[in-house]
Amino acid sequence: MSYTYVLKLVYFLVALNAITGCIGDNKQFANQPQSSVEQLNNISTAIKKVKKLAPNYVTEVSYPFVITGDLALKQMKFWRRKIQRSQRALKKQFFRSDPSQVIIIWLFKSEASYTENNQRLWGFIPDTPYGYFDPSNKRMVMNIASGGGTLTHELVHPYITQNFPESPLWFHEGLASLYERSRYSGGYIYGMNNWRLASLTALTKAKASPNLSTMMSSGDGFYGKDRETSYAKARYLMFYLQSRRLLKRYYRTYRDSVANDPSGIKALLEVTNESNISSLESKWVKFVSRQHL
Ligand SMILES: [Zn+2]
Repeated sequence: MSYTYVLKLVYFLVALNAITGCIGDNKQFANQPQSSVEQLNNISTAIKKVKKLAPNYVTEVSYPFVITGDLALKQMKFWRRKIQRSQRALKKQFFRSDPSQVIIIWLFKSEASYTENNQRLWGFIPDTPYGYFDPSNKRMVMNIASGGGTLTHELVHPYITQNFPESPLWFHEGLASLYERSRYSGGYIYGMNNWRLASLTALTKAKASPNLSTMMSSGDGFYGKDRETSYAKARYLMFYLQSRRLLKRYYRTYRDSVANDPSGIKALLEVTNESNISSLESKWVKFVSRQHL
């Protein structure tokens, strides 16, 4: 066992003490509460996996993430601090529990290295040049030269899965994409306007119905042919709630009533104090039309 490896384990034991909340309040989630020893073993297994695949890569830990890639140690520590800041803010705002699965985050220094290493390590070239999360293989892979936006987006997904396992895709992608461009204040994270606004311009100019209720009821169809517009609608619905300081309340209300309100429309009307979806939609359209990058 190398000195660096021992240091990692010591670091992880310290980090474990900082874990707040408890794991296991989920209704239908396969993940079971784990003891500190199990968590430590899982981290240790993930680090060994990295060392086997890429012996020269440095590793950093921010539980439940093992962070690695072809960056220099200083850069890796920089991104570990960014990841920790996002985790702290997400937990302060929304989530009681960390994901109970250890996830390896691979950070590559350029698009060329990202493409090359995906091919070398996992035998394929991803269809996105920015990064992706592969939950079944407990792996996030980023072209970190494109910035930290995709990384923050992907970090949100395992937190939702752990804490709101019944969440439909629209809520997953709406909240995750809200933080693609973000700022931090007082330990909280806030989404800012981003490129997804462009997808809504034609819609708001025409003052056409945004059909938010259709998007919210789309289930797995969220990833269908109007995918880009659906992402933009979901993101900007989150952004609207954030601007009205209702996002945290909406998350909790929706999570707690999802059995009777799978789409989240009833919870949306309740927290916004609207009697029907069309009055909310017309306010939302006006709000979106005032936004700019
Ligand atoms: Zn996503």
